[in-house]
Amino acid sequence: MSAHASFSARLLAWYDRHGRRDLPWQHARTPYRVWVAEIMLQQTQVAAVVPYFQRFLRRFPDLAALAAAPADDVLQAWAGLGYYARARNLQRAAQIAVAEHGGALPAELPALLELPGIGRSTAAAVLAQAHGQRHAILDGNVKRVLARYGAVDGWPGAPAVARALWSLSESLLPQERLADYTQAIMDLGATLCTARKPQCARCPVQDGCAAHRAGRTADFPAARPRRQRPLRQAQLLLVQDAAGRLLLERRPPAGIWGGLWCLPLAQADEDAAAFLRGAYGLHAQAGEALPTIAHAFTHFDLHLRPLRLHVREPAGLAEQAPARWIDLAADALPGLPAPVARLLQQLAGKAGAAPPQGMAPATTRPRRKAVSSPST
Ligand code: SF4
Repeated sequence: MSAHASFSARLLAWYDRHGRRDLPWQHARTPYRVWVAEIMLQQTQVAAVVPYFQRFLRRFPDLAALAAAPADDVLQAWAGLGYYARARNLQRAAQIAVAEHGGALPAELPALLELPGIGRSTAAAVLAQAHGQRHAILDGNVKRVLARYGAVDGWPGAPAVARALWSLSESLLPQERLADYTQAIMDLGATLCTARKPQCARCPVQDGCAAHRAGRTADFPAARPRRQRPLRQAQLLLVQDAAGRLLLERRPPAGIWGGLWCLPLAQADEDAAAFLRGAYGLHAQAGEALPTIAHAFTHFDLHLRPLRLHVREPAGLAEQAPARWIDLAADALPGLPAPVARLLQQLAGKAGAAPPQGMAPATTRPRRKAVSSPST
């Protein structure tokens, strides 16, 4: 027996002894009943769905009743299940089935997929369970089972991983008993191959399970990757004039540290001396580069590369320039962004000078600290 045949055979044998065979939509397993159950089960566990399903079916026993009902009645019968778009789609699909498919759900995959709210796995589950057709499913439980069984790397939401899982799901399909097999693989995921602590010792397919064999069940399926936070970079200019004063500029109202006083910021790849000439008419000479400072905003990281620059000639600033010279030892400091304040504190400490007014002596390493992102 091939590994794949053995998967379905073992699963079906297990289902015959341990599977759930008394669910209300299994008796009778009509397309309408299976479809309503599949839609209800999309975001909700079996135990919670059962009473809703029974009430819903008493109220709307068939497609025609659902299609003809006032929309408010359908929503009322759905109340408590949440995700109300599912109920609206259910009724729209019933109306289309009545109007265009002779009052029944289509029994072919492409036509079923055309109906609102029916995706590939739901359509396959309806056709397999109600008509015994040979279609693979891939709901949340099945993704977990197959990711482990085949040790399929990657987050199942990624298209390439989903393709691999669909292909594995198709390759494992038996030739017969499709309705039971479909219920069986869903049951395996819901009862033994659970998200936490799968019960591999009781699992009928543990012999062929790659994750179990490798002792890596916790690694599959991979979690959704964290979105990479964007990284921005800038030069932080420590511009000193011949008198040792430091240049501060006021940040534009919008953007990073809007409205705060700060050391001048230049683009990461820009010629800093040219920037100072253009912005403030200063002729500066670049000096030492200091270690990069990493700073976290809410939605991005900022890497600041401090660069010393020296202005030799008398350095006046235009009246209207949004900048000023400050004497760290004598002038009161305005409010500065935290990483800039920490840098000045460190430099004052290294130089053995008294810390700038309003600052404690530097005793600790600067820490990364998240602050609100700027408005732009
Ligand atoms: S052996 Fe364990 S991990 Fe593998 S399918 Fe069975 S329960 Fe899931």
